[in-house]
Amino acid sequence: MSLRDWFNRKDGAGGPGEGELGSPTPKDLELMARALELAREASAAGETPVGAVVYETESGRVLAEAANTRERERDPAGHAEFLAIRDAAAAVGDWRLNHCTVLVTLEPCPMCAGMIVNARVGRVVYGARDPKAGACESLYKITDDPRLNHRPQVIGGVMAEESAELLRGFFRSLRERNRGRKGGD
Ligand SMILES: [Zn+2]
Repeated sequence: MSLRDWFNRKDGAGGPGEGELGSPTPKDLELMARALELAREASAAGETPVGAVVYETESGRVLAEAANTRERERDPAGHAEFLAIRDAAAAVGDWRLNHCTVLVTLEPCPMCAGMIVNARVGRVVYGARDPKAGACESLYKITDDPRLNHRPQVIGGVMAEESAELLRGFFRSLRERNRGRKGGD
C-alpha cells in the first residue's frame, strides 16, 4: 500500500500500529520538533511542558498549534492537543478531522484521547509515554478500542526522549522551588 493509499484509506480500516506506517514521516518529525518548541515555551510560563500541532496529513498544512494553558487559564481542559484539535476543527469548519494528524509531545490523557476519537482524527503521533495518565496505550487504550466507533492510526514514542527530558527538567525545578519554600504546599 502506498503512502497516499494509506492516508486515503477508509476511516477505521486497519488498526493503530499495525500498518506500514508504524514509523513517523519526515513531516511528523519536523512538526514534532515544533511541538517540542511550544512545550519549552509553555514550561517557561510555568505550564507542564506539552505542545501539540495538528496538520493535514496529505498536504502537510498546519491547521493549529498549542501548548498547555491549564495553569494560566485555570482551565482543566487546557491540554495542548485538546486546544489544538478544537482550533483545527474551527479552521476547517468541520468537527471531523479524519484527514488530519495530531502531533503531541506526551501521550494523550483519557480526556484528550476521548476527544481524538470524537473528532475522528485520522492519525495520532505522540512523544513520551505517560505511565500515570496515558490513554493510548499506558493506562487505557481509548484510541484502540473496538467498542468505540473510531480508531485512529497511532504512533507513539516519537522524539520521546526530548519530550521526557523536558518534563523531567520541569518537575525537577518545581520540586526544587517547593523545597526552597520549606515544606512547600
Ligand atoms: Zn489531555
